Amino acid sequence: MTTLTFDSVNPATGEVVGTHPRQSAPAVHDAVTRAEEAAGWWAALAPADRRRRLLDYKAVITQNLRPLAELVHRETGKPTADAVLEIVLTITHLDWAARNAEKVLGRRRVATGLIGLNLSATLEYLPLGVVGVIGPWNYPVFTPMGSISYALAAGNAVVFKPSELTPGVGVRLAELFADAVPEHPVFQTVTGLGETGAALAGDPRVKKIAFTGSTATAKRVMAACADNLTPIVAECGGKDAFIVDADADLRAAADACLWGALSNAGQTCVGVERVYVVDQVYEPFMRELKDLAATVKAGEHYGPITMPAQLDVIRRHIDDAVKNGKAVKGGPESVRAPYVDPVIVEDVPEDSAAVREETFGPTITVRRTKDAQEALELANASAYGLGGTIFSRDTRGALRLARLMRSGATAINSVISFAGVPSLPFGGVGDSGFGRIHGADGLREFARPKAISRQRFALPGMNLTSFSRGAGEVERLIRMVTILHGRRKR
Ligand code: NDP
Repeated sequence: MTTLTFDSVNPATGEVVGTHPRQSAPAVHDAVTRAEEAAGWWAALAPADRRRRLLDYKAVITQNLRPLAELVHRETGKPTADAVLEIVLTITHLDWAARNAEKVLGRRRVATGLIGLNLSATLEYLPLGVVGVIGPWNYPVFTPMGSISYALAAGNAVVFKPSELTPGVGVRLAELFADAVPEHPVFQTVTGLGETGAALAGDPRVKKIAFTGSTATAKRVMAACADNLTPIVAECGGKDAFIVDADADLRAAADACLWGALSNAGQTCVGVERVYVVDQVYEPFMRELKDLAATVKAGEHYGPITMPAQLDVIRRHIDDAVKNGKAVKGGPESVRAPYVDPVIVEDVPEDSAAVREETFGPTITVRRTKDAQEALELANASAYGLGGTIFSRDTRGALRLARLMRSGATAINSVISFAGVPSLPFGGVGDSGFGRIHGADGLREFARPKAISRQRFALPGMNLTSFSRGAGEVERLIRMVTILHGRRKR
């Protein structure tokens, strides 16, 4: 039988980077079978042994940083230096997950309260078994590894389906793991198109799916998971807002805004897409933004659009923005496939596609607001809620705005900085998805809480869970609960 294959292609040059099998449902089934066996071995290791192996994996990735970055560059087109940054962040997260798994998930005693006076109770977080990871192409190392590192550290085996645009990177990540952990296939990669991912999501032996990609595909994956009641973490896109308050350092704000919008050609789920600037500083901010934008070039500072079909979305949003707003930099002519030069458009109506839908390109819309409160209200009027940014010198005010921003994370006076802090959870609300990767929440996401209560001694005259219970015991219980909980505070 001949195996169907597909190519991964360098989007900048058209060069074929690699040819990979289109793994069908039976191949995915076999991978999950192997993963189930490996999961038993991995989960039974002492936490210190798992930690040592994961730290070895980290060392192997670090030793292979340059060739891995080169492969990311070839499959996505992004500058190699950006690929290095992505891998360094991945290493930091893997290190944190390995070092903190036992502390976050290990068995601990918990208080039992007065009514449970005669009990002792423990809580621990046990591995789920096999976790399926379906990943995107925009950060082909950092994004899937945000799930894979934490799932492995929590004691699970992983079967990873990378995007069809970046299969080589996905295959390499599993090969490097096997270098560090040769005993069992605890981390496998299966390659293919959408149907390969669908087979993974539909396998009842997969105990959780971690999906990163579009909201529309997340819904399809969730529907496939529903058949087996398989839970999912959905990390979907965003339409992140960037708020510039009246007392912001405008040069720093413009610099961060541009990088957040244009780096990786705007193909970042927490990239800046909407900018809201307080009236008082609108003109000086726009001067800074235009000055800096004049120095940034597609093909030099950032790479091409990785997914050819995305160019149509970007073109449609630019046309829409320019028709209804005022172009400050660039316009429809900025799209010169596979590159898109920076596009800045102001006064685009809030109900237009360019403001409402995820663009995933190097474009921003900018709007003047009366004050920071109005900026926040507009920022929050989105179906998405992934990240966001606030620039202000007033720390208290910025913190207040950050807390009120309807998003999973907000950066103050920096952009996207939360993603690089391994102890912070990452994920969204609304159309941006649900569940969390990274941090303690990211470890718990790939584990199931196990509660155990043990009776240490029988409470005389208080055997409530017995048919031998008498009226006196119930009376004593009512008296006790009245003393404990019966007093109003005001
Ligand atoms: P998709 O959401 O379609 O793909 C994401 C992943 O899901 C890929 O690995 C894909 O495989 C896989 N997949 C596709 N269909 C299915 C299915 N039915 N069952 C299981 N897995 C499936 O994203 P695209 O890459 O097509 O990009 C589309 C849009 O998504 C972008 O324009 C952008 O707006 C958004 N996006 C958001 C990202 C984020 O970081 N949140 C990342 C990437 C995209 P395959 O590639 O083989 O089709």
